Amino acid sequence: MVKNVGRIHGNPPKGPTLMDNPLGKYFSLPLPDDKLIATYVWIDGTGENLRSKNRTLNFLPKVPEDLPVMSFNGSATRQAKKTNADMYLFPRAIYRDPIHRGRSILVMCDTYDTQLQPTATNNRVRCAEAYLKCAEDEPWFGIEQELFLMSADDMRPLGWPYKGFPERSSRYYCGVGADRTFGRDLMEAHYKCCLYAGIPIVGLNVEMGPSQWEYQIGPSVGVSAGDDLWMARYILQILAEQYGIEVSMKPKPLPDWMGSGAHVNFSTKLMRDVNGIVEIEKAIEKLGYAHQAHLKLFDPHGGRENAKRLIGSHQVAHGDELSAGVGERLNSIRIHRNIAFEKKGYFEDRRPGANCDPYVVVDALLRTCVLNE
Ligand code: ADP
Ligand code: MN
Ligand code: MN
Ligand code: MN
Ligand code: MN
Repeated sequence: MVKNVGRIHGNPPKGPTLMDNPLGKYFSLPLPDDKLIATYVWIDGTGENLRSKNRTLNFLPKVPEDLPVMSFNGSATRQAKKTNADMYLFPRAIYRDPIHRGRSILVMCDTYDTQLQPTATNNRVRCAEAYLKCAEDEPWFGIEQELFLMSADDMRPLGWPYKGFPERSSRYYCGVGADRTFGRDLMEAHYKCCLYAGIPIVGLNVEMGPSQWEYQIGPSVGVSAGDDLWMARYILQILAEQYGIEVSMKPKPLPDWMGSGAHVNFSTKLMRDVNGIVEIEKAIEKLGYAHQAHLKLFDPHGGRENAKRLIGSHQVAHGDELSAGVGERLNSIRIHRNIAFEKKGYFEDRRPGANCDPYVVVDALLRTCVLNE
């Protein structure tokens, strides 16, 4: 694979990028009228990494149920102990494919074992069940995905000096300029690809750490919040492959530097209605009782990775107790000032780690705040 970390470091390009890749012209080859490429995407047995495979179709599916169920070898994805275990991908959500374009599609799938039971990391099933029970409450989720861009060769953040560390400075956040912002072309390309795909991306900004970024998805309705965020993650990783960049969503990739979270913004119809602040306060009270149980769900390592981030500094709350407040970023739960002023809207759960499974977080918030389980 051609690597081009050099360009982002501000050095002369070491090799072709996606744009001037000698194979690039073949990407734009038109497909025969009756053909399209479907890329099936799924979460593997780590609960954290994605896999994908392609299939040519000779029809345009309208809904996921139109699509064929595909099989894959679960023993190569940490999803089965037996060798060559045939497991199954069930299509759940369809997006336009910014990589193959034309009529081609990306398909978010969930996974089933040889007995057609959901696999251990198929958290979508439970989440979809919870959502179905309260669909009339119209739960919306908006997720802020933070991440670091790393050179895949040595897992060093882009633009960081080869020895030591960059200057500690407040200039990186929303920074402009080659000395403080790294990988903008990649992140802007991702933004446009998400819009093209039909993913409701609403924003992008450079975060507090150099080469740390945040994009925001949503609001998405119920379980689709998980589909939308996982597909956005997929697209960014495919684009980053072209540069030899690894997208790190570790909650605390570098000790003593900013961690990465996935703030989950949540509202129901009642919260968005007149005086919805009362509903918001009720929900936050319930979150207080479930706090310790929730912490275990906020990263795929039982909360252990995220605990390195929830230390009460670097703009994150301490994990021990749930704290809530208006405007204050050091709280676990934050209510935006204008929402406190308007007395309706949504609240922000700042606890989940950047590597969280959004299906798990959505499920937990629905069951605790809406279903009272
Ligand atoms: P912050 O001030 O915490 O950095 P951002 O602007 O980064 O906030 O992100 C705001 C998030 O809130 C977005 O993901 C957006 O989709 C989401 N959001 C906006 N309105 C609602 C709502 N009514 N319910 C749930 N999420 C919402
Ligand atoms: Mn095969
Ligand atoms: Mn944000
Ligand atoms: Mn942020
Ligand atoms: Mn936030």
